[in-house]
Amino acid sequence: MASTITDDCIGCGNCEPECPCGAISEADEVYVVDPEVCGDCVAIGGCVGVEICPTDAIVPAMAVVVAVAI
Ligand code: SF4
Ligand code: SF4
Repeated sequence: MASTITDDCIGCGNCEPECPCGAISEADEVYVVDPEVCGDCVAIGGCVGVEICPTDAIVPAMAVVVAVAI
């Protein structure tokens, strides 16, 4: 499962260059994660966008899994 970006995104663009897979792109003034490209980044400790997002708009894949499970 891929990470996702919520409606809290303000379109700052900080996350796009940080994603090692190039999975984040601009779409209509906000940013989105392409689930077909997102590599889940477990090997490098999680989604790198999470720490740099000023609005906590990026939800890492594992959090999505937990949210769905409960
Ligand atoms: S989990 Fe990794 S590949 Fe997916 S959006 Fe975050 S940094 Fe990019
Ligand atoms: S860092 Fe956060 S607010 Fe900025 S573009 Fe990425 S998801 Fe949106």
